[in-house]
Amino acid sequence: MPDTAVTGQPELSVVVPCYNEEAGIAAFWARLCPVMDAIGLTWEVVFVNDGSRDDTVGRISTLTHPGVSKRTIDFSRNFGKEAAITAGLDHARGKASVVIDSDLQHPPETIPLMVTLWQAGAEVVLGKRQSRETDSALRTWFSNRFYSFASKVFEVPIPKDVGDFRLMDHQVVKALGSLRENQRFMKGLFAWVGFRTQIVEFEVAQREHGTSSFNLWRLLNFAVDGITSFTTVPLRLWFYLGSLVSLVSLIYGTIIVVDALLFGSEVPGYPSLAALMCFLGGIQLIGIGVLGEYIGRIYREVKFRPIYIIRELRDE
Ligand code: UDP
Ligand code: MG
Repeated sequence: MPDTAVTGQPELSVVVPCYNEEAGIAAFWARLCPVMDAIGLTWEVVFVNDGSRDDTVGRISTLTHPGVSKRTIDFSRNFGKEAAITAGLDHARGKASVVIDSDLQHPPETIPLMVTLWQAGAEVVLGKRQSRETDSALRTWFSNRFYSFASKVFEVPIPKDVGDFRLMDHQVVKALGSLRENQRFMKGLFAWVGFRTQIVEFEVAQREHGTSSFNLWRLLNFAVDGITSFTTVPLRLWFYLGSLVSLVSLIYGTIIVVDALLFGSEVPGYPSLAALMCFLGGIQLIGIGVLGEYIGRIYREVKFRPIYIIRELRDE
């Protein structure tokens, strides 16, 4: 990690993950600069080009602003938003860092309020979305289920409707940087490190250019990632279910044995046998699946691969 005590350390860093954003990045920059200047603190920007297939990196290289240093981190391929944010924070030199989407769904105008709260002593300032109007009904339903499950079983509570738009003191950034797990569920990691937290609300805008790279399948996998990163409850659930099924089987077994002893055995019973076998087979398969998911995660972690690979780091 870079030394944060370098001379000329800016007060604020703005960390921007970018994936296929060539159409919108200039508009983002044009809106960000005046807002940042109005705060009156020195600032830098850290763009992370997350293996875009379009000319995002070319567009980024044209963006300049007087008095602002720009770091561009160009990934060797697409490593995902979580990795992009991690890289941006690893290379941010500010006394506080703001993470913001490059598609203008996170209004830069919220940043001054975040900074004010930081100056007043907050170490983390979360952006909380006021509504989910820009999301489909299905996505909203899905997130609600996820959060209510998470609030019950996660190691640490995850604040609802809070995404990656946030300000963090450099101490928090350093703490986050010390968590080097490969499968990064950022919402969970952010919550895990703790620190004094304040919330500001913002209205999510419609995406102006391009399309969201999160479809329902990706979201589902994201949820499974979150759950398996932050709780082992699914494993325990299987223990309870197994115990319940065993208990029921024991009672049922006793009943049919006693019944056979008292009244003689009736040979028919094939349908119930077949049904039971299928049911138990299914339960066992799901159980093995859950186990496998955790083992797969262990497997991926023990290889200690880096979280991202940088093709080029440019300071301008
Ligand atoms: N992003 C990224 N890598 C990815 C996907 C997305 O860096 O693999 C960036 C993207 O450029 C944007 C932010 O993450 O700045 C949010 O992405 P998107 O708008 O697709 O997601 P949504 O707003 O629908 O959650
Ligand atoms: Mg977006």
